Amino acid sequence: MRIGIIGTGIVGVATAGWLQRDGHEVIFIDPREAGEACSFGNAGSISPSAVLPVAMPGMWKKVPKWLLDPDGPLVIRSHYLPRVLPWLMQFLRHSTEAEVTRIAGAMRGLLSPVFEAYEPLLQRAGAMSMVRRNGCLYVYSSRDMAQKWAWGANLRRDLGVEMQELEAEALFELEPDLRGSFGFGQYAPDNGSTPDPSALVKAIYAQAIRDGAEHLYDGVTGFDLSDSIVRALKLASGETLAVDGVVVAAGAWSAQLARMLGTRVPLESQRGYHVTVQDPGISLNRNVMAVEQNIMVNPMAMGLRLAGTVELAGLKEPPNYARAQSLLRVGETMFPGMRTASFTEWMGHRPCLPDSMPVIGRPQRVENAWLGFGHGHVGMCGGATTGRELANLISGRSPEIDLTPFSPERFRRGLAR
Ligand SMILES: Cc1cc2nc3c(=O)[nH]c(=O)nc-3n(C[C@H](O)[C@H](O)[C@H](O)COP(=O)(O)OP(=O)(O)OC[C@H]3O[C@@H](n4cnc5c(N)ncnc54)[C@H](O)[C@@H]3O)c2cc1C
Repeated sequence: MRIGIIGTGIVGVATAGWLQRDGHEVIFIDPREAGEACSFGNAGSISPSAVLPVAMPGMWKKVPKWLLDPDGPLVIRSHYLPRVLPWLMQFLRHSTEAEVTRIAGAMRGLLSPVFEAYEPLLQRAGAMSMVRRNGCLYVYSSRDMAQKWAWGANLRRDLGVEMQELEAEALFELEPDLRGSFGFGQYAPDNGSTPDPSALVKAIYAQAIRDGAEHLYDGVTGFDLSDSIVRALKLASGETLAVDGVVVAAGAWSAQLARMLGTRVPLESQRGYHVTVQDPGISLNRNVMAVEQNIMVNPMAMGLRLAGTVELAGLKEPPNYARAQSLLRVGETMFPGMRTASFTEWMGHRPCLPDSMPVIGRPQRVENAWLGFGHGHVGMCGGATTGRELANLISGRSPEIDLTPFSPERFRRGLAR
């Protein structure tokens, strides 16, 4: 089949790689180069343990304090509040213990096979070095402080995630430069990361092109549909593109396309920022999640990347780099003595659904379209498995994981379950 893939982020390129293994012809449609949108500047964690949703029990109590703190982890631009409020209410409804337990279980299914889903793609691309399997650390100022997050950590353990507790000295043995602000850690040895998320995406993309994929630098604006079948894609240039099937992997921009295929999803952009510090004078060996600060720190090929924060302001507003500056300020308190003379800043649109789970599957009303988007904070973790599962569906095989929780139609029924 000739499959059009809308989007060349991690989800689009991984889907292409898996589809080509089944002998399908692939054509990417994206006005941008591969790996230049949200998949460009993320924190690069590639972790089967990243199963917890963003909305956690008791979070609603913390929101007012966060909103008052200019360096806090959440900002809502005031003009955007009325627009995003219904989404926020839905988001908070998923923060009960029962919901979080259900979501984490489903996400464990998606994220557990992360490395086996990447491996064939990276092997073929000669890019195995794009994934490092050297664990990650969750760090806290003290063991007492870690207690505040114990419920989530225990849920991870219940789902089979290995987490080794490290008192201060053991922590500093692994990562000497954590000395100063941190006094307790949890080491998750089965996790990993990439030294360059954009290069990872570009490597899989380049292999797909070598294997015969084409890339049309255009935007998709609609579909020619008849008898529940997409016959062609309508393009921003005014052209049309005939396809046998289509995958919507357009990240935070996917909702409108899904709606044209008859599926309404409450997709919101959780804008996130990074600073990548060149020559920081700090050396880490692996990904570190500073839990109290809500910042992920990853030693990358191009410098030490600090990434995080959530800003709700939609897809159109320009970035507010004060958010990136605040990451840098908090980073300086975490790593006293960090050199910050040279750094880059970036903002990306995380594609987020209120239950922190992606949609993976076919719109009910269309026979030859598939949706793969909404991976929120964990697209690098879940992208490759999503690609594998979409290829399974498109090629008529049974999925290898339970896709029921990721049904694109789950929002029709009110509380997504
Ligand atoms: C600060 C930050 C830190 C993060 N850290 C991590 C992390 O450590 N680990 C992790 O797993 N995830 C992380 N994420 C999340 C991760 O980056 C995303 O989930 C992931 O990149 C989404 O990939 P995607 O392929 O769905 O979308 P994108 O990479 O955004 O790609 C979508 C593509 O679709 C194209 N497109 C859009 N509309 C159209 C159209 N109409 N026609 C044609 N093309 C179109 C766009 O041009 C774009 O190229 C982080 C995100 C941020 C912001």
